[in-house]
Amino acid sequence: MDKITIIVPCYNEQEVIEKFHTEVTRVLQDVADCSFTYLFVNDGSTDATLSQLQQLAAREENASYISLSRNFGKEAAMLAGLDYADGDAVIIMDADLQHPPELIPVMIDWWRQGYDDVCAKRTDRADETWFKRHMANLFYRCLQAVSKFRVQRDVGDFRLLDKRCVAALRLMRENQRFTKGMFTWVGYRKKEIPFHVRPRAAGATTWSYLALCNLAVEGLTSFTTAPLRLTTLLGLGVSLLAMFYMCWVLFNALCYGDPVAGYPTLITVMLFLGGVQLLSLGIIGEYLGRVFTESKQRPIYLVDEYDGQKMIYGSPAG
Ligand code: UDP
Ligand code: MG
Repeated sequence: MDKITIIVPCYNEQEVIEKFHTEVTRVLQDVADCSFTYLFVNDGSTDATLSQLQQLAAREENASYISLSRNFGKEAAMLAGLDYADGDAVIIMDADLQHPPELIPVMIDWWRQGYDDVCAKRTDRADETWFKRHMANLFYRCLQAVSKFRVQRDVGDFRLLDKRCVAALRLMRENQRFTKGMFTWVGYRKKEIPFHVRPRAAGATTWSYLALCNLAVEGLTSFTTAPLRLTTLLGLGVSLLAMFYMCWVLFNALCYGDPVAGYPTLITVMLFLGGVQLLSLGIIGEYLGRVFTESKQRPIYLVDEYDGQKMIYGSPAG
């Protein structure tokens, strides 16, 4: 009998939790030779999500929850789930039913055929705005161009992970997490299965454009140091251009007695160089900022409560 833990990060999902549970349970009834447990992670919700989870855990034998001490973000919530999960495999799912539960039996099939990481690949992003789609496209292109990993495209966090992958992911304790890159980084046998994203069952997405931009920068800086290399190349290129320009000015002055107008050229060059220098500093700063946050070695999340039990660090309090 295989034991599978379903990890569900929840942030202000009071309207969908019951619905999620009924719908997923209905699908799971037909899966043979598998026992399922639910592990909900309450990521510091400000609505009634926690009390909903408490009720659910009290009522259903196979449901449990951890509640984080504040909102740490989905990436941290997922890690908390992975840390507390004890199945032979885990499935990570959103609470808002955008991830169709019908895919779970398919994932389990592939897992039993020897795949360690079965992920759902969205076949259309039609529900998203034109801008969002193109930004996502650009992001994947950039990441692909600069890193030697084959980054999985249009693949979200909806996936089944074998316990070997879970063990590997638990080892990766960086604070600024780009989980999508980490899934690729750990390797093992991967299988992508297509699916259509459903609209949210209720509530609104918590991802703003700003948050998505931050995620993109985070993804790039945590996955590759190519931008640093790029600044070096940029410096080299600008220096070369400057040299050619200098030769040309000299040539003109010596051969044709051209008095070279100073002010416009100076201003252009100064502004251009100033911009390049600030850009390079900014890129270095991005990485330095990461070094700073990581060097503090703070815990990635704090658990307030585990199935009704108050927690102190990783263990029950009192
Ligand atoms: N989520 C979370 N912490 C957060 C934001 C979101 O645990 O700070 C959870 C949320 O409850 C949901 C999942 O992550 O289960 C995906 O969030 P959302 O639906 O807002 O994102 P989208 O589907 O738009 O990518
Ligand atoms: Mg969603």
